[in-house]
Amino acid sequence: MAFTFKGGIHPDPRKNTRKTPVVQITPPASVHIPMSMHIGVPCTPCVKVGDVVDKGQVIGTIPEDRLGCPVHASISGKVTAIEERCTGKDGAVCTVTIENDYQNRIAPGVAPFEGDARNLTSEQIVKVVRAAGIVGMGGASFPTYAKIEGAIGRVTGMIVNGAECEPYITANHRLLLEQPERVVGGIKILLKALSLRSAVLAVEANKIDAVKAVAALDFDPEMIRICVMKTKYPQGDERRLIHALTGKEIPAGKLPTDIGYVVFNVETCAAVYDAFVTGMPSVERIVTVDGGCVQSPANLLVPIGTPVRDLLSYCDTDVDRIGKLIAGGPMMGRALCLDDTPVTKGTSAILAFEKREALKQQKTTACIRCGRCLSACPSRLMPREIYRAFLKGDTEKCSELSAPLCVECGSCSYVCPAKLDLTQAVSGAKARLKAIKRTNVPPPKQEQIEQTKNICSPEKS
Ligand code: SF4
Ligand code: SF4
Repeated sequence: MAFTFKGGIHPDPRKNTRKTPVVQITPPASVHIPMSMHIGVPCTPCVKVGDVVDKGQVIGTIPEDRLGCPVHASISGKVTAIEERCTGKDGAVCTVTIENDYQNRIAPGVAPFEGDARNLTSEQIVKVVRAAGIVGMGGASFPTYAKIEGAIGRVTGMIVNGAECEPYITANHRLLLEQPERVVGGIKILLKALSLRSAVLAVEANKIDAVKAVAALDFDPEMIRICVMKTKYPQGDERRLIHALTGKEIPAGKLPTDIGYVVFNVETCAAVYDAFVTGMPSVERIVTVDGGCVQSPANLLVPIGTPVRDLLSYCDTDVDRIGKLIAGGPMMGRALCLDDTPVTKGTSAILAFEKREALKQQKTTACIRCGRCLSACPSRLMPREIYRAFLKGDTEKCSELSAPLCVECGSCSYVCPAKLDLTQAVSGAKARLKAIKRTNVPPPKQEQIEQTKNICSPEKS
């Protein structure tokens, strides 16, 4: 029996690229590398315009005592600009532009780890992972060294997330299928860092070929147990994954480590492996490119900072037909307004939808009290009730209904036959409660109602 959680939905998987091997993109003419691609403090550029840099060279630094990790050049070339640019997240971010010299020079410091890998200490692993600038590559972008540090001595279970439950995205699937040894190698290093004996690799049932590719490797099956998960969205959500595998719930406001677990994405594990085996820091990633405007959907290995425009062009995209451009999956991804937005460490997919695909907004009707939103919510919330409370400006009620537990998965809106924008209302309530907590000043109710008029169609019941 496949493992799963309560709630969730079954959107059309549209894994069009599941059989498309990863290809290296034509080297970009230039890259725009943001100094903030992680949760924490942004880096400060340590290069200046005119400098010649090598691939893997540090170009952004951060004090040792602050949360965050360094940023590296993803190609060799000349720094031509250091300026604020829109990166599609957090508004404008300081970004270093490097013009490619096509020499592919590797920075002198990039070399395999010299010590005896069998005797690695937790401290050594944390140091190497931090220096390599590795962040959670499933999309969260939390610095991996900090996750390891926070888990040392506190966890008894390590879960490796290969669920990849969002429609369209197949980057993790192809990595597991084509280079399982990098993932397994990274898992072994992370186990060592945490002084654990075994990990669980969670993969959805629609990737059985990937499961076989991993199982075919020579490793102790007691050390890495492969668990096949039911194909369901949002199976890859950390809390859902832990619950599905262990039956344990993470209490509100707590983290996985608080109940003894830590979760790493499969591509993060591969990046950890690279940091030790080749010494190459986090300078590239696999990106799925798909959507109605993309004629040749693909999985591309691209340098961090490559403009999205280059990926679209490589995949024969009719850019004039694009109605919506998304970084990440269609359920939880974020809309991009510019196609020269760069690929960051957290970009798992670029989806280019046609105008008609993007026009999801249909006429809303009154709630028919079918309860589907309730059954679909993986956080076991009452989306309809929160929606109603939010429209009334009743933040107290939103708090009572635990709106902050929403993971913004979109499942409630997806199933609602009345086409009510439940997700936007619940995430709006969550944001409002967070703002109140920060400032301690509740907003005037009427003002909140006015704000919601633009984003939600009032329910008539
Ligand atoms: S309320 Fe939040 S967590 Fe629940 S289904 Fe809707 S978006 Fe997902
Ligand atoms: S909000 Fe939508 S899904 Fe929820 S009970 Fe009403 S009609 Fe059904």
